Amino acid sequence: MGITILTAYQTQNRCYQRGRKARHVGILVHATGAVNRNLKRYVDAPGSLGVNANGNHWNKASADKCMHGFVGYDKDGRVIAVNTLPYAYACWGCGKGSRGSYNYDPTAHVQFEICQGSNTDSAYYREAISVAAEYCAWLCRLLGLPASAICSHREAARRGYASNHGDPESWMRCFGDDMNQFRARVAALLSGAGSTDEEGQPTMEILRKGSRGEAVTALQSALLSLGYAIAVDGIFGSQSEAAVKQFQSARGLEADGVVGAITQAALRAAGGSAGTAPQAGRRYRVTVPDVDGAAATLLLETYPGATAALISA
Ligand SMILES: [Zn+2]
Repeated sequence: MGITILTAYQTQNRCYQRGRKARHVGILVHATGAVNRNLKRYVDAPGSLGVNANGNHWNKASADKCMHGFVGYDKDGRVIAVNTLPYAYACWGCGKGSRGSYNYDPTAHVQFEICQGSNTDSAYYREAISVAAEYCAWLCRLLGLPASAICSHREAARRGYASNHGDPESWMRCFGDDMNQFRARVAALLSGAGSTDEEGQPTMEILRKGSRGEAVTALQSALLSLGYAIAVDGIFGSQSEAAVKQFQSARGLEADGVVGAITQAALRAAGGSAGTAPQAGRRYRVTVPDVDGAAATLLLETYPGATAALISA
């Protein structure tokens, strides 16, 4: 895993401001159609992506589309992913078809655009599609989804849940690629990541004030995506603790500022994620001392197929 995911919420977009919630059951991949590899064309984050001199990015009230993310060049010509809308929000991505829309519940999909290159630029295509696959694997873990839950705009349209577009296959085809191969690559990324957990031991880490590292970064990203004002710096300080306590209070949990199994499960249920997400096809044994009935139910909902024994009441 070596991708960068920048967070740059497009707060002037009316979709962001509306903040309609959604529970995402899949991931929908777009390609922009227009040949422009630069994220700054669509995303307003001049510090990292460069200045859009035409001002035609989508961070404005007049934009009628809004995605959860984009993949393309940053200002230094590196292909990165950028998250532009909290994952707990419904996007304005794919329009609608005869049966409904993948923008909204109960068929809501997290959606992102790949900034498209020319039909002969295979170097950029390979780099962009590889970052898109890694971003999808990351999203699958965040949302607890298998690679089979990924589709294209074209596939969504053919199922009757999107406007009649042919992306990104119309671009993929130029390089002998297709969505089945793409899903297979994401599935390979997902299965490879499980190899450190040979014994099926829980990999959950308890996070509290003073904790540092990747798991803290994941926790902070999850809280940020749920609307808590927090810096994503990998250091669990007073600000992180305050946000965790707020989140715990809001979910009816004990507000102790310590992120254990129950708070992590609640974060996932709320659409965020922290620590190591459970992976499809693996079984985990998670022992939670003094769990009460409501928390046990929440855990079971979060880990489908799990069985739990109540050790104490
Ligand atoms: Zn599209």
